[in-house]
Amino acid sequence: MPLKQYIRDIQDFPKPGIGFKDITPLLINPVARKVTLTILLSSLRGQKVDKVIGVESRGFFFGMLLAEELNAGFIPVRKPNKLPYQTISASYDLEYGSDSLEMHIDAIQKGDRVVIHDDVLATGGTAKAVCELVEQLGGEIVQVNFLMELSFLNGREKLGNHPIFAAMKY
Ligand code: AMP
Repeated sequence: MPLKQYIRDIQDFPKPGIGFKDITPLLINPVARKVTLTILLSSLRGQKVDKVIGVESRGFFFGMLLAEELNAGFIPVRKPNKLPYQTISASYDLEYGSDSLEMHIDAIQKGDRVVIHDDVLATGGTAKAVCELVEQLGGEIVQVNFLMELSFLNGREKLGNHPIFAAMKY
């Protein structure tokens, strides 16, 4: 099944010059969604996974589905001041300025085997910050996975030696 037909390109969203990858046509189609989940799971076959992280907010959809299938815990990583309990944070650079992401301090125990999931790998700054959060708490990164990778932005170069998987490549 050619999954890319379920990704809608929206030019100049949310601002001029950005080609936004809209995943809602994929989310709305149960067959395409199932195929995508199967592809992501097959990249993890045989791996022990304790926790799956979903990155706010579009990483939550498949992050939770993966956690369910892997019988693993689910951890939301969120934008600042959204999580109610004690948090750790990591910042990353934006085109202008910087932003940060937060995770609850008790989300990961030392040695936990963790999969990180987000919808799009673009410049890699977001995923790199999430890797730093996992490492701050002593987790082991099994894989960083995405629905799609925008290869022309070279985001994987920011992610060091961590295994990276994307169900679709552009
Ligand atoms: P980056 O930190 O540059 O790798 O950007 C990744 C984050 O920004 C992900 O959480 C994506 O949801 C979002 N993102 C970046 N570029 C796009 C795009 N072209 N279409 C949709 N989401 C994007």
